[in-house]
Amino acid sequence: MTQPPRFTPAGDPEPLLLLNPGPINVSEGVAQALLRGDLCHREPEFSRVQRRVRELLCEAFAPKGYTAVLLTGSGTAALEAAVCSAVGPEETLLVLRNGVYGERIEAIAEAHGIHHQVLDAGWDSPHDADLVARVLDDDPDLKVVAGVIHETTTGLLNPIRDVARVCRGAGRTLLVDGVSALAGEEVDLAGWGVDLCVGTANKCIRGLPGLSFVLVREEVMSRIASYPPRSLYLHLPTYFAKQEQDGTPFTPAVQLAYALEVALEELLAEGVAARVERAKAISDHLRERCLALGLELYLAPEHLSRTITTFRLPSGLTYDELHDALKARGFVIYAGQGELRSQAFRISNIGVMSDADYERFLVALAEVLP
Ligand SMILES: *Cc1c(COP(=O)(O)O)cnc(C)c1O
Repeated sequence: MTQPPRFTPAGDPEPLLLLNPGPINVSEGVAQALLRGDLCHREPEFSRVQRRVRELLCEAFAPKGYTAVLLTGSGTAALEAAVCSAVGPEETLLVLRNGVYGERIEAIAEAHGIHHQVLDAGWDSPHDADLVARVLDDDPDLKVVAGVIHETTTGLLNPIRDVARVCRGAGRTLLVDGVSALAGEEVDLAGWGVDLCVGTANKCIRGLPGLSFVLVREEVMSRIASYPPRSLYLHLPTYFAKQEQDGTPFTPAVQLAYALEVALEELLAEGVAARVERAKAISDHLRERCLALGLELYLAPEHLSRTITTFRLPSGLTYDELHDALKARGFVIYAGQGELRSQAFRISNIGVMSDADYERFLVALAEVLP
């Protein structure tokens, strides 16, 4: 199906095309939604938008047995809310770490004084569900497991389906960061048995930055409702209780909710599976062409997601030189994180971009590579 047209700002017929992993170029409809008008969030018109966004999130990602809680804030706000709300006072959290976002879950646990243990797989390897099973067997206090579906750091996909099977079998709660996975990778929260999944508006869902959400299994939501809050602003049950009554505890980003509503309608019109398929086709094509240009993958191909590719920087070219040369040609790429900054760069394929846009990018890349 044809893509909705990309937003082109007045006076800027050729805006930068974003190949960073969010925020992305959005559609005309999503951008125009910002101009629907001013609205008080205590009025029924906002309640309608909020209810609709929550329903559309469930329809897209977890049609049965889940509830969606909407937060104002970037993906990390929803991640922090999920982590600090889902671990009971006497419970220990097991963090599955193999990149910056696993490290972030660990940092959130530290900030809130949550007992936790870390299982590290290294930045270039997926987690091993059998090892997770053994760790859980050895320590009955590990009641909650938190991992990242798609480690945006490197573009690595973790076997969360297998981890979920292990958690289900061992009676543990599973919380996943699905921020860069929802609408980009095959994810089946209900089928896999994920208890909480964190997402954001401005990655593969193609909304605007500033809203995020947590999809929570209904039984889990009832259970964590009784936990003492670790945060005033980021306590998930507070949002859930208010949103169930069509209210909001604090002032939400009203206009961003309009934009997210449109983005979700466009996603469902396209079909989540169709969007994931298209990402696969694009990433296959990009990788093949980039390898033909002499670039090398950072990860083994079997570990790669379909929305981000990390390439090694060719020798004789710094990231800044590559970035600036591509930006001068209209394209924004993304640096490696941490120690990968000097060794690698990332390109993402999640925004509103046509095949012709990707071709132009590949031409530009061929021009600037040594
Ligand atoms: C982008 C991202 C986040 C959230 O980042 P924000 O900058 O807070 O939106 C969290 N986890 C993953 C895996 C991400 O890719």
